[in-house]
Amino acid sequence: MEVVKEKARIREIVEEARAAGRIVGLVPTMGYFHEGHLELMRRARAECDLVVVSLFVNPTQFGPGEDLQAYPRDFDRDRGMAESVGLDYIFNPEPSEMYPQGFSTHVEVEGLSDILCGAIRPGHFRGVATVVAKLFNIVPAQRVYFGQKDAQQLAVIKRMAADLDFALEVVAVPTVREEDGLAMSSRNIYLTGRDRDDALVLARALRTAAGMIEAGERDVSEISEAMQGVFDALPSVNLEYIAICDTIYLQPLEELHGEVLIAVAARVGKARLIDNMVFEVE
Ligand code: AMP
Repeated sequence: MEVVKEKARIREIVEEARAAGRIVGLVPTMGYFHEGHLELMRRARAECDLVVVSLFVNPTQFGPGEDLQAYPRDFDRDRGMAESVGLDYIFNPEPSEMYPQGFSTHVEVEGLSDILCGAIRPGHFRGVATVVAKLFNIVPAQRVYFGQKDAQQLAVIKRMAADLDFALEVVAVPTVREEDGLAMSSRNIYLTGRDRDDALVLARALRTAAGMIEAGERDVSEISEAMQGVFDALPSVNLEYIAICDTIYLQPLEELHGEVLIAVAARVGKARLIDNMVFEVE
């Protein structure tokens, strides 16, 4: 596995592979790998001839006062993990390679970017859409892999790829969880002591919703209230939102039908956590 720092070099590698008829997969990440990242990489490895993982802690998707400086980093460990799943290249640019002096173009996915997490993190999805559009150009893969864990990010990327005519397939990979149900995240490292137990409330609320839907409940407000009750039982956790919406426009649903996204966000100690489940409702 080779580590590539320059845009021109990784593009050349990928273009050569494509010219030779190979299928290229891209897995965009911010590093500090866990099983969720590895699952994306394994899936890409199984489906593509050449796999590039990008590792870039993108400064433009962090707001003022967010954890850009503190964001966990361990490149040597990440390199070993990526190598263990048989990846071909890590693209690991410096910020100046991605954002040279004079950089001033941004991608704004209207409508999807200022709701839910976007309402709480203004500018976040503009930063995400911009860096991902750049990565799609720098690493011209036919398949790109994203986690269902970040459901709004997935919706934003799918919209952007369609609207800007990127000729690639966005592959969604199911959320990987710890044994006790906590969705894996690089930010789980912020959870110490009691916060680690408290963090289970997100998955617990989602399981409550799942149980109700399974039992035939179709009333959105009933489900929402039951989930709210799960959070109310744990006042140390700061709930940001419970959303019951469609998976494409992320608009609130009045009645459950088709593909339904139930998403939650909450602050637990120093960590801001998100989680979701997708249901196919008859
Ligand atoms: P990040 O490094 O946190 O930006 O995540 C890189 C990619 O891994 C994104 O597409 C995430 O949605 C995905 N990802 C993060 N955590 C998980 C998880 N627990 N299960 C599946 N995918 C994940």
